Amino acid sequence: MLTIEDTIVAPITGLAPAAVAIVRLSGPDAWEIASGVFEPWRPEHAHAVLGRLSTGDEGYALPFEAGRSYTGEETVEISLHGSPASVRGLVDALCALGARPAEPGEFTLRAFLSGRIDLTQAEAVRDTVEAQTALQLELASRQRMGGLAMEVSRIREECLRVLAAVEASLDFSDEIGPVDRGSASSTLKTQIEAIDRLLDTARIGRILRQGFRIAILGRPNAGKSSLLNAYLRQDRAIVTPTPGTTRDLIEEAVDFDGLKAVLIDTAGLRDTRDSVEKIGVERARVAATGADLRWYLYDVAAAWTAEDERQLAQLPAPTFRIAAKCDLVEARAEDPLRVSSKTGEGLAALAARSTQMALQGASLEAAVIAPRHEEPLQAAREALTDALGTISAERPDDLAAVGLGHAIAKLGEITGETATPDIIERIFHDFCIGK
Ligand code: GDP
Repeated sequence: MLTIEDTIVAPITGLAPAAVAIVRLSGPDAWEIASGVFEPWRPEHAHAVLGRLSTGDEGYALPFEAGRSYTGEETVEISLHGSPASVRGLVDALCALGARPAEPGEFTLRAFLSGRIDLTQAEAVRDTVEAQTALQLELASRQRMGGLAMEVSRIREECLRVLAAVEASLDFSDEIGPVDRGSASSTLKTQIEAIDRLLDTARIGRILRQGFRIAILGRPNAGKSSLLNAYLRQDRAIVTPTPGTTRDLIEEAVDFDGLKAVLIDTAGLRDTRDSVEKIGVERARVAATGADLRWYLYDVAAAWTAEDERQLAQLPAPTFRIAAKCDLVEARAEDPLRVSSKTGEGLAALAARSTQMALQGASLEAAVIAPRHEEPLQAAREALTDALGTISAERPDDLAAVGLGHAIAKLGEITGETATPDIIERIFHDFCIGK
């Protein structure tokens, strides 16, 4: 275990000015250094004391003992007035007494290095801080509580057990005989299935984190830009009665009942000679293919045409057919989903249908992976499949040991046991100051 000798300091609240800010001091000398700026200094674990700061402000000091703090180190959190002068003055005073400014993510890095959390939990801290919607928050919270860490560690432990048995039979074949191939194979099969279940969550993990991508399609003037604006409740896209005015893609994130959805307004789909519009139509097709769901709008007052039929036939599933501008005509039995950007009719129902489609079959109860976890899981799966093949075919056990060792190392990259400094650096690089 790395020993950390310095004490770091940074505001852990947002940008000043604010009514209140909190400055965190963490490291072996945190209490000693805090005693130099805070009066009266009578530290007691997790007890806030009101006092005066040597910098002229006043506030609360909240000390935490080593082993019982966020970082795992001795810590003090000082709340004070959130003016730039007050915060900077305190940070400077603490640095003059021996602390140094924390790097982005360094508090969480220390929590990881002290063994309080694993890498997936560190990533979840970042996701919690950045969560924009209720579902993103829930996903991040579950991962922060260790859901994914436990599942990956469990698989790794099982692989370690098989490796230990294989190595023992290699080293002490006279005393303990050959490895029990039946039991080793069945354990490995179970672990491969568990990895497959985790890999299956990649899609929902991406959708929850990055948003469910919905391409808004249809012929020019179908009402696409108006629908985007209706969801955004502002005029982001240009709405005009002249067909063909949205020539580029417009992407906006919206919150559909806790799910982040990314709406992509596209150029109308039609054959055109205008070279700029042509590019727009081409981009619309690319966006349509790349999206998770498509909304195909048609002007219900102008009715469904053969051209709509032709355009719709070129789009992949799932695509919802949507009768737009439904305020213009009475509802008819044959209408699909009806929406009106003018009156707001149908907007909530369309959002609900889309959310339902995004989340179908997904459960947040089980661990859900993030894009970083995919490569090591795939690599671990391949290595385990090789090891299983070797063991089942009664080929040499040292070959199986190599595969198992590789799988174990790959799984450890996810939780951090075997993560290289490069992987760790990349993860904490994305953090903001004070986290
Ligand atoms: P786009 O080319 O598909 O993006 O279509 P627009 O959103 O620019 O809308 C084309 C025309 O239809 C504009 O004149 C809008 O005001 C009108 N429009 C759009 N949505 C509605 C609606 O829900 N009801 C009514 N009555 N008119 C609409």
